[in-house]
Amino acid sequence: MHAAPPFTPLEEILRQDPGQRGIEALFLPGELARAAEALARAKRAVIVTGFPVRSAGVAETDGPPGSVALGRALNALGCEAIHASDPLGAPLLRAIGCAPLETPAFDPRAPRDELAAAAREWLTRLAPDCLVSIERPGRAADGEYRNMRGQVITHLVSALDEPFLQAPGLGITTVGVGDGGNEVGMGRVHARVVASIANGAEIASVVPVDHLVVAGVSTWGAWGLVAALSRRAGRDLLPRGSQVREGLLALVAAGARDGVSARAEETIDGLPLDHSLRVLEALRQAS
Ligand code: CA
Repeated sequence: MHAAPPFTPLEEILRQDPGQRGIEALFLPGELARAAEALARAKRAVIVTGFPVRSAGVAETDGPPGSVALGRALNALGCEAIHASDPLGAPLLRAIGCAPLETPAFDPRAPRDELAAAAREWLTRLAPDCLVSIERPGRAADGEYRNMRGQVITHLVSALDEPFLQAPGLGITTVGVGDGGNEVGMGRVHARVVASIANGAEIASVVPVDHLVVAGVSTWGAWGLVAALSRRAGRDLLPRGSQVREGLLALVAAGARDGVSARAEETIDGLPLDHSLRVLEALRQAS
């Protein structure tokens, strides 16, 4: 006899799988609270986001709304938040006020030792306690980066997953938020992605993190982290719905596309914003 997994109310909300990708198989109970605990202790955090929409050559709407919310929550708790993305994601983060913003150029085709050294140098300069990925491509076993359809997107990314491989050696805690299996952090559950997710064998990222937050939509996962931080701090650190709506309008105006439909519209992962705003309010109620 096995007891049912002890999901918390916040985890139950994040386990919703609107894209029916099978993320339930990737879900690790307790990781949300452990990630929030690490972030609550951090004095400086680097938050990486930005996922390319291959057909459009721009970044998608999922990710940045979570990054800005987490950055503001950490700032409110006295932690310095530094944002990071690549040339596709950077304009989106600027459009919603994510600052300071780092755009390191890590060539995914560079020799492995050069890439590792560049990532270590970058981390040493920024000296974060925590390195966070929200909906950021993580390389697959063959070194290529892929979208959920299994298409190679390596030519569109900076290897911002490399710092996550170097962080453990520098004593930096890593957190990853993902919703599909091809993101930074999913190396923690690589075999499960291969077994349970469409195109899993091709897309599964091998890049692990210390604390993996799986959610039906990555932005929801980031809000889940903020909700968990709110719960710990005894104050509401989540964004207002109106802020999220304004932010999404700004993202689309700056060129963002929906990652599922590839359309320039105010949706996240093919879902109307109202769907995500209901999730936001549910997280607020549960925090
Ligand atoms: Ca997504």
